[in-house]
Amino acid sequence: MELQRSSLYNIAPIGIKTIEVESLSGYISRLAYVHCITVGELMNHLIAPNINKKYINNIVFKGGNGFYKSSSAINSHGVIAHDFIKVIAFLTCREDIGNTTFGNCRDLVPFRGLLKNIKYWCPSCYQTDLENSGVIYERLSWTLQPIHKCLIHDRSLENVCPYCKSFMYILERKSLPGFCSRCHHWLGNFKDSNQISVDNRLYNQFIKKFFLELICTSFEKNNVPYSLLFYIENHFEGSLTKAVDFFDYPKSTFWMWKEGKSSPPLHVLIDITMKLQLDLTDFLNMRKPKVSFADHYINKVCRAKRVSKEHNEIEKFLNVIVKEKRPYSLSEIAKRLKCDRRLLAQRYPNECRYIKINYLEKMEIKKQNKDKLFKEKIDNALYTLEQEGIYPSSRKIEEIIGNGKLHEKKFQDYWRENKGSDLNT
Ligand SMILES: [Zn+2]
Ligand SMILES: [Zn+2]
Repeated sequence: MELQRSSLYNIAPIGIKTIEVESLSGYISRLAYVHCITVGELMNHLIAPNINKKYINNIVFKGGNGFYKSSSAINSHGVIAHDFIKVIAFLTCREDIGNTTFGNCRDLVPFRGLLKNIKYWCPSCYQTDLENSGVIYERLSWTLQPIHKCLIHDRSLENVCPYCKSFMYILERKSLPGFCSRCHHWLGNFKDSNQISVDNRLYNQFIKKFFLELICTSFEKNNVPYSLLFYIENHFEGSLTKAVDFFDYPKSTFWMWKEGKSSPPLHVLIDITMKLQLDLTDFLNMRKPKVSFADHYINKVCRAKRVSKEHNEIEKFLNVIVKEKRPYSLSEIAKRLKCDRRLLAQRYPNECRYIKINYLEKMEIKKQNKDKLFKEKIDNALYTLEQEGIYPSSRKIEEIIGNGKLHEKKFQDYWRENKGSDLNT
């Protein structure tokens, strides 16, 4: 590589090996900021030429947002993360860049289910950064799919700018930690109004420890299948049926996991270790579970008794919905009845089939009405612009009907068909 002399500042990634560790995508936006350039410029002039692969060259030669839309991969454990670690390490002359990704989890969990596609943040973390160190940065923990609360502040992570209502991709041309990349508003505050329940607090305590182990441990291939096999053999008398009954997963899926034919996604790994009441490393080291299996079966019997009592109530409720053709989805019904959707479908297949068809029909009608209304809106906008003698470009139309509303192809086609005839008249 020829760029050795034009290396970037050697700033240190924040919080390595702690739950507050910075993400690589966030580190890249911070690098751009300290050099007084945008992420887009950093990407075009230094990162893309040094990676020099098709997926990234497109943003330089063709423009467009294709790469940014999938930029969550930068923080993951695949080829893109590997390329980015290499190039950023080279440009900053640092050897610790890999710690800002989940590169160490390659042999533990699949990419599917690992990372969120859009940006999440904790306003309290941003505000604390601003008031304490002045160095505002994005945490790696915010990017994980199963994490919905800040590990420090126990408050829900946000994903929509409260000012312009936009969501953001993990990395964008104008990304800047702590600010909206669209309207540039500050995103930090201490205004958390949600009271966290005890259950959630326990879950968060567990997740905090889990996350720390996740980023600090080096995992080996087949760690998970070996552990699953061990627990099936030693705690479920070698019976897969008993194990899936306890963990509550489909038998065939669980079989694939224990055979190493597929890997359980992160949320499943969290769930399994939680059910065994074990830390991640204890699970992988096949330590004795802290859970009492006897308690589990007693709970299950009590639950079964309760369910049979509720059986009548459920049947009555379903019959009303079928009879009155109410537009409820199965998930909504399951939620109201506080029972599992799959269980409903298994026990009441006929009622559920009917409910499903009825719901889909109602939704289709609703959608058609909505489309009709929307096309009327486009008509009105075309008419208004025509009256004012303005060319009805998509941008002008969207100024009236709302930003991004012509995104959907059917509406774009409708606009295209109708703007022509409008101009001719
Ligand atoms: Zn926070
Ligand atoms: Zn905004």
